[in-house]
Amino acid sequence: MAVPRIVLLGPPASGKGTQGRLLANKGGLAYFSTGRQLRRELKAGTELGRRADPYLAAGCYVPDELALALALTWVSGVDGGWVLDGFPRTLPQAQDLDAFLAPQEAALRALILEVPKDELELRVGERRECSVCPWTGTRSGADPSGRCPSCGAELVQRSDDDLGNFRMRFKAFDELTAPVAGYYETSDRLRRVSGVGSPEEVFRRIQSVFHLD
Ligand code: AMP
Repeated sequence: MAVPRIVLLGPPASGKGTQGRLLANKGGLAYFSTGRQLRRELKAGTELGRRADPYLAAGCYVPDELALALALTWVSGVDGGWVLDGFPRTLPQAQDLDAFLAPQEAALRALILEVPKDELELRVGERRECSVCPWTGTRSGADPSGRCPSCGAELVQRSDDDLGNFRMRFKAFDELTAPVAGYYETSDRLRRVSGVGSPEEVFRRIQSVFHLD
């Protein structure tokens, strides 16, 4: 692949954030998560955050036009390769991303992390993210003080990480994002990796799929 451009698909809590960052670090790629950016906009009280708020609270996807604006603005500002975590999530988003990248003759690959639903439900309760830096992980993966292992700031649970919200997000994934995997599969751009196991184990599988060893 000339300039790697990788989109990460996967149900909620499948490890997209953790693996996306490992992949970006290993490959020297820029990394962006639309979900995390939406939560930041919400916290900062921006116009975009206010528009996204009811969707995030209900466990629904934000409108395509909003996600597209966020992702394509970020992509246009990046020179080299990149990893997009959580975008595209719908067919129109995937098609618009292809149309946007077409003039650059970009080689896009999609990676889907596959994890059974009952394991995802267990992970949701454990999941934490840093209130300051990009660290995400599990409560048990943090240091005993409960502070961020990367920068020492407070760790927080995502406001949308309760079981009811998770089930809504999983349904949205099943209905709207699974077809996106099919879209990339028909053009032979999809790579499937099991997301079960430790972050290191999962990352080893990803490395071998993308020949990053
Ligand atoms: P994530 O952090 O990737 O789990 O995303 C959290 C939430 O942000 C999702 O459940 C959606 O409500 C919203 N979101 C993130 N990315 C997108 C997207 N590409 N399209 C629509 N909604 C999104």
